[in-house]
Amino acid sequence: MTSTAHHATPPLRDFVDAFGRLLDTQPDEPRILDEGAALLRTLVARDDWLPDAFAQPDPDRYQQFLLHVDADARFSVVSFVWGPGQATPVHNHTVWGLIGMLRGSEFSQPWRLQDDGRAVPDGEALRLDPGQVEAVSPRIGDVHRVHNAYTDRVSISIHVYGADIGTVRRHTYPAEGGRKSFISGYTAPRTLP
Ligand code: FE
Repeated sequence: MTSTAHHATPPLRDFVDAFGRLLDTQPDEPRILDEGAALLRTLVARDDWLPDAFAQPDPDRYQQFLLHVDADARFSVVSFVWGPGQATPVHNHTVWGLIGMLRGSEFSQPWRLQDDGRAVPDGEALRLDPGQVEAVSPRIGDVHRVHNAYTDRVSISIHVYGADIGTVRRHTYPAEGGRKSFISGYTAPRTLP
């Protein structure tokens, strides 16, 4: 699968171009997370570029709209749209990820895996407010649960991952222990009138 959304607005196109140039230099993961976070902070510093079709909540579950996937699947960019009170299961990513808050707020609670394989909360939840960026990866902590900080409004964050994340086989960690395989896919954007 190739390339960007033809609808990409200038801030998103500039971000994708800059991120591609960063990856062209074959940086190690710490540099991707450091310099990539700076690029993402610039993208989410303003909230006037995300097309409405990629900002629509669904009453039943949070939405994951693909904004861009790199031609070589080096990275993908996704808008996460949280309806009021919506939350993810405890899950991992298997690749590096950057999360930038565009609109509203969310909480990310880190979890860790015990020796028996059961996941338990690990430390304080991190609140992300507009303009802020957090990172995940198998190296720095890859398991978390995320929820909309608001029960009465939509929140939106922009995620960047080191793969075509919608095709990656990864895991959720149910409360009863063990893990379940899942592939997230993407939400099909609805055409708005
Ligand atoms: Fe996540």
